[in-house]
Amino acid sequence: MIVQTRDELKTAIAQANPQTLGFVPTMGALHEGHARLFAKARTENELVVSSVFVNELQFNDAQDYANYPRDLDADVQLAAQAGVDIVFAPRAEEIYHAGMPLIRLNSGVLGELYEGASRPGHFDGMLAVVAKLLHLADPRQGEYRAYFGQKDAQQLALIRRMVADLDYPVQLRSVPIVRSPEGLALSSRNALLNAEELRAALVLHRAIELISGRAARHEPLNIDDALGLFQMEPLVELDYFVVVDPNTLQELAFNCQDTPFTGQGLVLVAAKVGNVRLIDNQPI
Ligand code: AMP
Repeated sequence: MIVQTRDELKTAIAQANPQTLGFVPTMGALHEGHARLFAKARTENELVVSSVFVNELQFNDAQDYANYPRDLDADVQLAAQAGVDIVFAPRAEEIYHAGMPLIRLNSGVLGELYEGASRPGHFDGMLAVVAKLLHLADPRQGEYRAYFGQKDAQQLALIRRMVADLDYPVQLRSVPIVRSPEGLALSSRNALLNAEELRAALVLHRAIELISGRAARHEPLNIDDALGLFQMEPLVELDYFVVVDPNTLQELAFNCQDTPFTGQGLVLVAAKVGNVRLIDNQPI
């Protein structure tokens, strides 16, 4: 079932009267990564609700917003096949019914790092819509769970903090990154890449694999070697490649030639391939 207004969503959830509700927010152009979230929500809940909404507030670049892939018919079909009961596909006026929000969430220091540094306002805008959507899909009774992908690791960390800091009555669940057979992290934006760019984009995964392999063998990471891989791909413009603490997201100093890697980390990478910004990550 597809619903477009807040009232329709509320009525549909009330009528289903579920003991357990799983909610999966998305920006559409759905792929196998989203399907994995739907599948997990399906196995754990009586009712599965997903939203498809391209949130202008989290785009710091108007062209990126205009170019973002949209295909609601295909999305509804994929969601239904993956077991989603209700797709909420609101228009912007429905979400921002009182006009653009005057009261904003501030993503704090965590939101200023990495993606936040390169995309000013991105995380504040993301939190603004996730905060609203979590209210709109709230069943107000029974168990309420929301599902997010580890693909957007910094986003997930921020949503965890928001839910804790603002006492949202929802349990968060996450799923690992779903990749193409060649290793490219699936993303709606991959549809904007041509064949040559798709090939070049594999360097993100190659660089992560190089570093995660060394970490698994407790070798020195020598991150400069990963940076070198990017220099060999003229179509790819690296933004950042860092190893961070998985909890605080603060950068770890593991770049020494002779310090073996121990403990835990998270590799975070972002790069532009042609005009398309891609991110990837991997726990090590
Ligand atoms: P998006 O539509 O890009 O805003 O993503 C909606 C949700 O799907 C977010 O929680 C993403 O982290 C998740 N997601 C997107 N791509 C993937 C992927 N390749 N693997 C796992 N989760 C993903």
